[in-house]
Amino acid sequence: MRIGEAAGRLGVATHVLRHWEDACGITPDRTPAGYRDYTEEHVRRLQVVRSCRSVGLGLEEIRLILHRDEQGRDGVIAARLEAIRRQRAELDAAEAFREHVRECRHNFITRCESCSAYALADPSRPAEPTSPL
Ligand SMILES: [Zn+2]
Repeated sequence: MRIGEAAGRLGVATHVLRHWEDACGITPDRTPAGYRDYTEEHVRRLQVVRSCRSVGLGLEEIRLILHRDEQGRDGVIAARLEAIRRQRAELDAAEAFREHVRECRHNFITRCESCSAYALADPSRPAEPTSPL
């Protein structure tokens, strides 16, 4: 199928497919006249690219993930799993904090040891600058 049909099935613009072709190595065949000719396998791979993009993966990461034999693939997957686990831990801590605050009996949360502990442990905050002395 031509690029317009493939792009239509994926819900993206044709220039996006040309960009993904370069960045992810999904290279369609060519018709005798030189037009891009996508197979169903190309479309399936491009659906994977679209899904990976929607959850924030970069095109280079996607290129590595697409094929089992790519160098660096395991590292990309390990880093993504670590990021997911870190996000899950942050969400669990945020949920626990809010459940605690809902029931907290202190008039100011800064006077509560549990509330303060959460604020100090917030992993999304930058580390405290170290003293120059
Ligand atoms: Zn509290």
